[in-house]
Amino acid sequence: MSSTLDGKVVLVTGASSGIGEATALALSAEGAAVATGARRADRLAALAGKAPGEVLALDLDVTDEQSVRAAVAATVDRFGGLDVLVNNAGVMLNGPVAAADTADWRRMVETNLLGSMYAVHAALPHLLERRGAVVQVSSTSGRTATATAGAYAATKFGVNAFSEALRQEVTAQGVRVVLVEPGFVATELVDHIADPGHRALAREMAASMRTLRPEDIANAVVYAVTQPEHVAVNELLIRPTDQT
Ligand code: NDP
Repeated sequence: MSSTLDGKVVLVTGASSGIGEATALALSAEGAAVATGARRADRLAALAGKAPGEVLALDLDVTDEQSVRAAVAATVDRFGGLDVLVNNAGVMLNGPVAAADTADWRRMVETNLLGSMYAVHAALPHLLERRGAVVQVSSTSGRTATATAGAYAATKFGVNAFSEALRQEVTAQGVRVVLVEPGFVATELVDHIADPGHRALAREMAASMRTLRPEDIANAVVYAVTQPEHVAVNELLIRPTDQT
């Protein structure tokens, strides 16, 4: 039986947990050959073991430009090209500006913004060759900033700005740029917040609503990348119904 992404090659960054893992599995189920990248090799190996299709696990640190280039090159070497980049790797280290450890800001900028820009730069020649797509996992924080999420929002506003400029540059050449903006998704994202009070607040917020599941976002990615070539799904804002 043929599936919608048969013959397509996808690279998912940050595929070792949460949204990236669910997206890699969903794209594999649609028939794509999937390269997965992250720092936790054990988690990527486990994912490869349960995916229905062929999965390549790659050591990837998106803050290291050479690592990003090597991951794209390894994907193309193994599968012969690249059709879709899912730029998903990210961290959220929230807290108020006045009390911030600026190393957290640097880590968010280097991961969420610069890391995803490196990935676009490395993947673009291949995407242009195949008239492929870039899926940028942004956030509701890419549209609205809230107290204690200033630096995180700055990175996601940056992702949105970069994506729109990129879209204007490559759409005439058939490359589609998809911005996905999730609201609260139940993942490990909040576990990395260093300040215990802010980590507890994030968990309380999650407990107060029916959060999205990573699969809800994976479904949106599948929808966007399985449209006919003349349809560009440019932006998908997906919130839990309970999130105001
Ligand atoms: P998780 O913490 O579950 O996943 C984050 C992923 O990013 C992991 O696979 C992690 O892998 C990877 N990652 C982090 N740093 C790096 C790095 N330097 N190099 C490579 N990979 C890295 O969280 P989510 O699934 O929730 O987050 C995925 C994306 O979704 C992020 O961009 C996040 O901002 C965004 N998002 C999440 C929302 C939510 O409510 N959960 C809402 C809106 C957007 P590893 O540690 O193994 O390297």
